[in-house]
Amino acid sequence: MSVQVVSAAATAKVPEVELKDLSPSEAEPQLGRSTSAVSAMAPPAGGGDPEAPAPAAERPPAPGPGSGPAAALSPAAGKVPQASAMKRSDPHHQHQRHRDGGEALVSPDGTVTEAPRTVKKQIQFADQKQEFNKRPTKIGRRSLSRSISQSSTDSYSSAASYTDSSDDETSPRDKQQKNSKGSSDFCVKNIKQAEFGRREIEIAEQEMPALMALRKRAQGEKPLAGAKIVGCTHITAQTAVLMETLGALGAQCRWAACNIYSTLNEVAAALAESGFPVFAWKGESEDDFWWCIDRCVNVEGWQPNMILDDGGDLTHWIYKKYPNMFKKIKGIVEESVTGVHRLYQLSKAGKLCVPAMNVNDSVTKQKFDNLYCCRESILDGLKRTTDMMFGGKQVVVCGYGEVGKGCCAALKAMGSIVYVTEIDPICALQACMDGFRLVKLNEVIRQVDIVITCTGNKNVVTREHLDRMKNSCIVCNMGHSNTEIDVASLRTPELTWERVRSQVDHVIWPDGKRIVLLAEGRLLNLSCSTVPTFVLSITATTQALALIELYNAPEGRYKQDVYLLPKKMDEYVASLHLPTFDAHLTELTDEQAKYLGLNKNGPFKPNYYRY
Ligand code: NAD
Repeated sequence: MSVQVVSAAATAKVPEVELKDLSPSEAEPQLGRSTSAVSAMAPPAGGGDPEAPAPAAERPPAPGPGSGPAAALSPAAGKVPQASAMKRSDPHHQHQRHRDGGEALVSPDGTVTEAPRTVKKQIQFADQKQEFNKRPTKIGRRSLSRSISQSSTDSYSSAASYTDSSDDETSPRDKQQKNSKGSSDFCVKNIKQAEFGRREIEIAEQEMPALMALRKRAQGEKPLAGAKIVGCTHITAQTAVLMETLGALGAQCRWAACNIYSTLNEVAAALAESGFPVFAWKGESEDDFWWCIDRCVNVEGWQPNMILDDGGDLTHWIYKKYPNMFKKIKGIVEESVTGVHRLYQLSKAGKLCVPAMNVNDSVTKQKFDNLYCCRESILDGLKRTTDMMFGGKQVVVCGYGEVGKGCCAALKAMGSIVYVTEIDPICALQACMDGFRLVKLNEVIRQVDIVITCTGNKNVVTREHLDRMKNSCIVCNMGHSNTEIDVASLRTPELTWERVRSQVDHVIWPDGKRIVLLAEGRLLNLSCSTVPTFVLSITATTQALALIELYNAPEGRYKQDVYLLPKKMDEYVASLHLPTFDAHLTELTDEQAKYLGLNKNGPFKPNYYRY
């Protein structure tokens, strides 16, 4: 099959944001003067040891006495410092580097369309003057949807669906559906799938112990009473557990999907059945995507006062369409690299008009998403797509950061012979000390059976490398973008592409050599397997705590800036997950705490500590 490149799509842009009269309080926050609402959710705390004498820059603000609706949830009020404002230089430049490569999308007829060459993983903003009633035809919607690259995939929530979107071709927007209570304030694929979705949610609950614990602690207490949360995330069973937890804590929620493909229809149906206004289905068109977001926000008699976003699309929609809403919004919680980057841009430009929490960079999220999640899901992704046996196979892993370490550990445990490439001598030395051969890619490219990229960089595997690979070599990527492997260079007339399975392409050279390309170079685990629920539990708990904190923070504590969750909150998220393992933490004695200069109840490490 030869492929034909038709056109380059327009460059996706983050829209310019114009903000007028939006500044809420001008008051400077009194850091540490009053209690964090989240602090009240903390586990029982002991004596009143002094705060750790860390350097001023690292020392969290001193906690105050408990207050606010969350305070009564635990006797531990007043032990968690509030989030500290982000003062670092923007760490997301690193992630931006790989956003400027192209992406090719193959339609069923073999036509290749070049996707936008910047910010590929975000959906472009639809024309702001777009009228949602003027909708494309069914066919138009489908083709639109094919032309959008995977959106907001930089948050590593499970995007795999275990049911397909059914044979029903009718757009959910054209259906009249009601749940069993007679409400039609939702738009999902098929409300009749609710029972199946409920079972999925119940399964997820078993692996999300911290959220379930928060629900229990909140019995009788409603730290989110009065909160009106508008959310835009992957709609999966794990998100459903989060939403229902927020509901149990007193919040009203309206929700849309942050990704046009990742919605689990049955889960969306279950949420709609239990009264959540959910607007999402698998396979939305771009037009549907924005329509769903708009239906969440543009409601008579209901205005959000909190935003939970994953990718920044919801936040920007409100900025563009309903900027006055920010007068009532108390804060934004953002999960993804992309969304956080946009918030920093707004903050830098002085246009961020409410406080925002950067959940993406909290220690627990980073560590668990990157290392442990990838350690678990790399084998799953490879196995599901190729059925291969790993024992004795030669594998080269490019990049020995968190993701690379996870991949290497899993493959080594399966008996693979693992080589590592690195540019950073520290990570390189770590690889050596962990027993891996550090090589240049060129040295092993002819002999390896599998090539895995985990660098967050671009063009790590070039056409030259691809030309030299042996027959049947498997090539895949675990990094953020699909430009780590130069997939675009394979779209040339002399090479033939054969789609052999979903997400598996054979690229065949004129001499008959073929390589096995997985997920067209996109994130393997996100595209071809599921992500462990327990990992998502950690992120979801962090999101819930960030919402509680921002919602309950006294006027002036947070200004219009981007904040990181305090270490104490990270520690709390971790501690809520420990009972799963029947793990028993050692407590510092008074003497030891004094000796180390720590508060007995944490935080136990300075902010600069590398775990
Ligand atoms: P990291 O920065 O810890 O590690 C990346 C490593 O790659 C670094 O050590 C860097 O020195 C090395 N590197 C850079 N360019 C290289 C090159 N040309 N050759 C060899 N090594 C090179 O980052 P991380 O946390 O390991 O994440 C890596 C990527 O994976 C990022 O894009 C991240 O967004 C993504 N990620 C994926 C998942 C997932 O589920 N698949 C989860 C988290 C993060």
